Amino acid sequence: MIMSKHLTCAVCRKTLDDDVYMCRDNFLQAKFFDEQDCSDNVFCSPECAMRALSVELVRPEDVPSTAWQDDDQ
Ligand SMILES: [Zn+2]
Repeated sequence: MIMSKHLTCAVCRKTLDDDVYMCRDNFLQAKFFDEQDCSDNVFCSPECAMRALSVELVRPEDVPSTAWQDDDQ
């Protein structure tokens, strides 16, 4: 019997049957994602990928002062 397979979004668990989003960064793939089978690096949307990476919209004042660039004079 042939088992059919499918991909599932790692964040919202939606079944995916079209193109998917993956983090292709080698460092993150090696150091951030845990699952050897890459199943935690499959997402239905940029929003789900961002959620997995804890990328959130924040207020400018919540960005550390070290990240602020000098204004061009
Ligand atoms: Zn999703």
